[in-house]
Amino acid sequence: MVSLGVKAQCRVCGQLAPADEFKLHYKYKQAVCAKCYSGRTEQEKQKEELKKKKEEAARPPGWDEVDDYLSRASKQKQEEQQIQFSKIPGTEQVKCLCFNCKYSFKYDPVRKLPQACPYCNAEVPRLKSFSSL
Ligand SMILES: [Zn+2]
Ligand SMILES: [Zn+2]
Repeated sequence: MVSLGVKAQCRVCGQLAPADEFKLHYKYKQAVCAKCYSGRTEQEKQKEELKKKKEEAARPPGWDEVDDYLSRASKQKQEEQQIQFSKIPGTEQVKCLCFNCKYSFKYDPVRKLPQACPYCNAEVPRLKSFSSL
């Protein structure tokens, strides 16, 4: 077959194909490339969809639950990223460990000083549970 070398874009599959291979398709109601005309495009689409369905079915049961658990775990981790307090025995002061720079410094819970980490200036949270330390 002699091709004229003129290519046209098939509106069904979006591919370029030799223009002289285009034929009017009864279903698409327009000229389509040889591949689409023979139904191969449709076959491939169906195969693709079948594959997608299979992949979805292959997901382990409880997949969403695992995902949920992971997001909850990371949330918990964020909450842990705060300055940690520990009481210094025999004093009114507590020791703070800065989550940001890991610098440890003394904190006066009565005067609420310092208000920020002296090293990196990260804010010292309110010490609500001091009595339970
Ligand atoms: Zn096509
Ligand atoms: Zn710090």
